[in-house]
Amino acid sequence: MTGAHELEVTTQPGGLLFTCVVDGCGRRMAIDREGRYSVIDRGDATASHRGGVGGVELDLPQVRMT
Ligand SMILES: [Zn+2]
Repeated sequence: MTGAHELEVTTQPGGLLFTCVVDGCGRRMAIDREGRYSVIDRGDATASHRGGVGGVELDLPQVRMT
């Protein structure tokens, strides 16, 4: 079954994590600070996944060594 799934964007120390909000899908993708893109979990490969980057104000966290 195809469909459009929304991706929720969260900031991580190493970059951005995109997680599908649709129950039962589980797609997760990450973009690191160099812009490298990787799929962590494929989830529903037939669905069209859209991230909210365009409308999200990105404010990456500061990383401190403690
Ligand atoms: Zn999905």
